[in-house]
Amino acid sequence: MDKTTIGKQKHIALIAHDNRKKELVSWVKEKQNILSRHILCGTGTTAKLIAEETGLPVKAFNSGPMGGDQQIGASIVDGKVDFMIFFWDPLDSQPHDPDVKALLRIAVVYDIPIAMNQSTADFLMDSEKMDEEYERNIISYYNDIRKGSY
Ligand code: PGA
Repeated sequence: MDKTTIGKQKHIALIAHDNRKKELVSWVKEKQNILSRHILCGTGTTAKLIAEETGLPVKAFNSGPMGGDQQIGASIVDGKVDFMIFFWDPLDSQPHDPDVKALLRIAVVYDIPIAMNQSTADFLMDSEKMDEEYERNIISYYNDIRKGSY
């Protein structure tokens, strides 16, 4: 395992599919005090909506169906995003479903905290670890998996 530190100030990606945007915006309003201490980004429409509704600065990537999920995935790989709140829609199909799946996969590979519903998001925000550094464990691909296989 490789260790990487999530700093006291988290780099949080906020994403919601259309049917869950209202829920995410009202959750962000509720948790605004906590979230304002961290660095926020999100997929295009979600980021703009949250910024408008709360006044919080939220860096906007492309809209999800236009590659925003992939941009956030790449930012996780680059260590620029280390926390994710992603309210995806469990009751509707998405044109960019492969991108969504890829993003969720890469978030697990890089061991970042992920909340996909309100209760998990609430538990994360109430965690004392929100104000502490945290060592996450990233699978050491070359040392642990590929070793000896080529
Ligand atoms: P959006 O993208 O914030 O631009 O709507 C979210 C998504 O569909 O992944």
